[in-house]
Amino acid sequence: MAKDAVYLMHCSPRCTAKSKRSGVRCCNPAVKGWAVCRMHGARSGAKPGSDHPNFRHGLRTKEALSLRAQVMELVRESREIAQILGV
Ligand SMILES: [Zn+2]
Repeated sequence: MAKDAVYLMHCSPRCTAKSKRSGVRCCNPAVKGWAVCRMHGARSGAKPGSDHPNFRHGLRTKEALSLRAQVMELVRESREIAQILGV
């Protein structure tokens, strides 16, 4: 129990965010299941993937980009081998 707690609600978990300027903690009540309060990012943001509201076609997902990079690396290697063999 906190020292200066007046009501039981004052004993609830507190926001762990710290001010950029003063370094003082926020100390608003944290949202249930989160370490921060509603003003410091709890419940914010959408999950990445096809459920994201800005998802269009999936051509620019991390998986698609890495797959494309792997294919381009294979093409580059095959060109080097073809150049060595003189094909
Ligand atoms: Zn906060």
